[in-house]
Amino acid sequence: MKIEKVCILGGGTAGWMTAAGLSHKLKGSQTEITLIESEQIGTVGVGEATLPSIRFFNNTLGIDEATFMRETSATFKLGIEFCDWGRIGDRYIHPFGEFGEKIRNVDFHHYWTRLRLSGDASRLDDYSYPIIMSELGRFQFPDPDPAKIEASFGYAYQMDASAYARLLRRYAEANGVKRVEGKVTGVEQDSETGHVSSVKLESGASVAADLFIDCTGFRGLLIRQTLEAGNVDWTKWLPCNRAIAIPCRAADRQITPFTRATARKAGWQWRIPLQHRIGNGHVYCSEYISDDEACDVLCANLEGEALAEPNQLYFQTGRLQQFWKKNVVAIGLSAGFLEPLESTSIYLIQEGITALLELFPGKDFRASDADEYNRRMELYFERVRDFLILHYIATERADSEMWRYFTNMKLPDSLQERLDAWLLRGHIIKYEFGAFLPPSWIAVMAGQNLLPAHFDRRVDALQRRELVELAAGLKARISSSARGLPGHLESIQAFGASTNMTA
Ligand SMILES: Cc1cc2nc3c(=O)[nH]c(=O)nc-3n(C[C@H](O)[C@H](O)[C@H](O)COP(=O)(O)OP(=O)(O)OC[C@H]3O[C@@H](n4cnc5c(N)ncnc54)[C@H](O)[C@@H]3O)c2cc1C
Repeated sequence: MKIEKVCILGGGTAGWMTAAGLSHKLKGSQTEITLIESEQIGTVGVGEATLPSIRFFNNTLGIDEATFMRETSATFKLGIEFCDWGRIGDRYIHPFGEFGEKIRNVDFHHYWTRLRLSGDASRLDDYSYPIIMSELGRFQFPDPDPAKIEASFGYAYQMDASAYARLLRRYAEANGVKRVEGKVTGVEQDSETGHVSSVKLESGASVAADLFIDCTGFRGLLIRQTLEAGNVDWTKWLPCNRAIAIPCRAADRQITPFTRATARKAGWQWRIPLQHRIGNGHVYCSEYISDDEACDVLCANLEGEALAEPNQLYFQTGRLQQFWKKNVVAIGLSAGFLEPLESTSIYLIQEGITALLELFPGKDFRASDADEYNRRMELYFERVRDFLILHYIATERADSEMWRYFTNMKLPDSLQERLDAWLLRGHIIKYEFGAFLPPSWIAVMAGQNLLPAHFDRRVDALQRRELVELAAGLKARISSSARGLPGHLESIQAFGASTNMTA
């Protein structure tokens, strides 16, 4: 009952990540993998900021970090700087790392809350190593000794996604993946089971397989158009539905080790620095701003000369009802999209690949595998959704129609519970599946001025004087260590990625 032939339909980031992942893990199993893509249709052409999990994906495949950095013109990413979200003029960084260190096994943010409630004005950010590093424009790899504050963070990359797809293509083809160029114009289904049996290309050729992976982007050619797997629409919570992207030249060597997301009146703008250019985009809600005005806002806020024509994108936030239906599994934009505020799409692709490999079916396609896959992906998507909504509702902004819309919004219960637990006593509800660990929730909630009224009572066991000394010592240690680090550009160059540097 072993699957003999797998067909991946689509060659964007999702298609080539899936091809690379499957060809690596199924090596030696004699499973034949074919990928079909159409140059005529092309890819979505955005998706440059990532989460730290991408490093584990590359490591698993054995892709050398220096090669990856050089080929994708990548920079290091320690987090995201959010400007004007809680209030106009505010700025904070959501870092990939911890705040402070546990004291007597209690999370540091509780001690900070105690200090804050007794009048101490220190920022929580001052106790985060990756935030101080980011503010200073420095970068260093985490220390291998987990006991050190210098090990209290992770990092991701800002990269050229098309170059990443090319790198993965080379990798997958070297592992035996067969690439077919052409546009799919027809789909054959088994008359009894409804399973997809083959796809027909414009050229007249057809490709048959046991398992199909739909990586056709927003089209969802197999999962949506053929199998009608159903859509769960989250527009009421995440109403942004369009984006315009324009790359530009970098001004004054501002290759920051973080992505920036600046809130605007009808959405927000991203800034993603690569080695050779800055990726910019304006994500917005078409109900509150026209395409022309959105483009003007973006152009007015470019820091250097535009390097391409505007790329206009349309989307609807939400997810599939069934990610795996019959013999088709959707990975990538075909599975759903939650807008790029926290760079989660590539992460969701990765989770899709991992879950598929763990539950890899036989030709009998047991319903329990699909059910488990669907349950898991549903959780991943919902948890990202809640985290994204948080950014829009944790705000005092009411200066435009969009921001006023969020002030009256009824939240998903899962998010409301998290907010209640945090606001009461700084507790973060933990979960098994999900991209964002407690420090991420703390960063956004505290960064957008949602602060707990109380703290964990175990904190009282420490004398105030002792706590003040510990906190001051920690802050000084972070600051002095971060000041001794190399600059971000220096770190990239030292890493052998200098060939693409133009800044
Ligand atoms: C505005 C915006 C910003 C984003 N920013 C980020 C970010 O910063 N970080 C992040 O992680 N993600 C981001 N994403 C998401 C990211 O771009 C996607 O997750 C990623 O590019 C994967 O896309 P994909 O491969 O699913 O689809 P696509 O790139 O659209 O690829 C679809 C593939 O299917 C092929 N295809 C389609 N129809 C046919 C057919 N009939 N026959 C043959 N081939 C066909 C196409 O040729 C193409 O190869 C962003 C998305 C948007 C819209």
